[in-house]
Amino acid sequence: MTPCATLSQEGGAKIPTDDAIPRALLAWYRRRRRDLPWRRTGDPYAIWVSEVMLQQTQVATVIPYYERWMRLFPTLSALAAAPESRVLKAWEGLGYYARARNLRRAAAQVLREHGGRLPDTAEALRRLPGVGRYTAGAVASIAFGRREPVVDGNVARVLCRLQRLRGNPKTPPLAERLWRIARAWLPPRRAGDFNQALMELGATVCLPRNPLCPACPLRRRCAARARGEERRLPRAPRRKALPHVEGAIGVVRHAGRILIDRRKPEGLLGGLWEFPGGKIEPSETPEACLRRELREELGIEADVLRPLTVLRHAYSHFRVTLHVFECRLRRGHAQPLACAECRWVRPADLRNYAFPAANRSVIALLLGSKQGGGITAPVATPLVHPPRIPMCRQAPARSAAGRRT
Ligand code: SF4
Repeated sequence: MTPCATLSQEGGAKIPTDDAIPRALLAWYRRRRRDLPWRRTGDPYAIWVSEVMLQQTQVATVIPYYERWMRLFPTLSALAAAPESRVLKAWEGLGYYARARNLRRAAAQVLREHGGRLPDTAEALRRLPGVGRYTAGAVASIAFGRREPVVDGNVARVLCRLQRLRGNPKTPPLAERLWRIARAWLPPRRAGDFNQALMELGATVCLPRNPLCPACPLRRRCAARARGEERRLPRAPRRKALPHVEGAIGVVRHAGRILIDRRKPEGLLGGLWEFPGGKIEPSETPEACLRRELREELGIEADVLRPLTVLRHAYSHFRVTLHVFECRLRRGHAQPLACAECRWVRPADLRNYAFPAANRSVIALLLGSKQGGGITAPVATPLVHPPRIPMCRQAPARSAAGRRT
């Protein structure tokens, strides 16, 4: 290994400042960079959208979302003017929905406070909703050529290996050190390309389990490789077992329509639609849970007719098992007692609403069944106190505690 040329002292830690690394990396990036849609534009809005979409999400997943998004909301003003429901529908399936809500809110703020032009410094960008240190650095450097570093998971892995840094890159002392290294290595020009090159190297060569060191432009300067430790670094934090939640949801039918409700805007999956239901309490059966939830949260009584399916889904912080039932309205007018609004919709119209992943599986099941007497068959039962259809009211103020997540 060639040792780093110089060391700078910053914040008590020695930071290597070898300009051979940016040079080798930029030369490699020029030859090997992938042709991605957001790399064909200099539009700061488009670059910002791509950076937000790419957080926690793989490039292959993002590409079709990005292309559709740019057709639907080609400009920052188009996004600011779009209803939240349309924005969430365009994001449906990407997860971490706060990103979409924040993009729209930030677009409105940029229109109000910056005349529709995205601010061109990391500091100003960070004042926008949902824009953190990483996104601000990425947009400022890629879209505006500012000398701002970025550290995401890929960059952290590359830096830890190059410098043979042990420890958890997400914990404050090491995380801060990585940001200082990333800043110290920024070339005087082409900071955006350098940042993208570091991320590209992590995504395509310096892979988490099997780094492709022979193809790496930095292999001669990599301390982990010199010691044969490239597969062992960075140290993965010990994973805690995710808590498990059991819930029950109902496909409640009446007069050929199905009842759905929209979650309150704040919190997990905020603003998305879902089939009503909730968390099963200890010593409660799924059916009893569903009857209780429908009564407490929508003010209706329903018959729980039969199980439709059981779904398992993992979120970042917990796993959920959902028991799904076919139900029919017995009596009551659905009201949004613990949600933003509720509606009776035709089954075919369910696809017009943005649902979380587990609920989309239910919709696929409902709309995919071609069999007579299958789960799409209407429940032909006399109803007591038939509701007005569709119903949609604003929710009264009430805690969302106890709602399923
Ligand atoms: S030499 Fe290997 S471990 Fe080191 S940065 Fe390159 S790919 Fe990663």
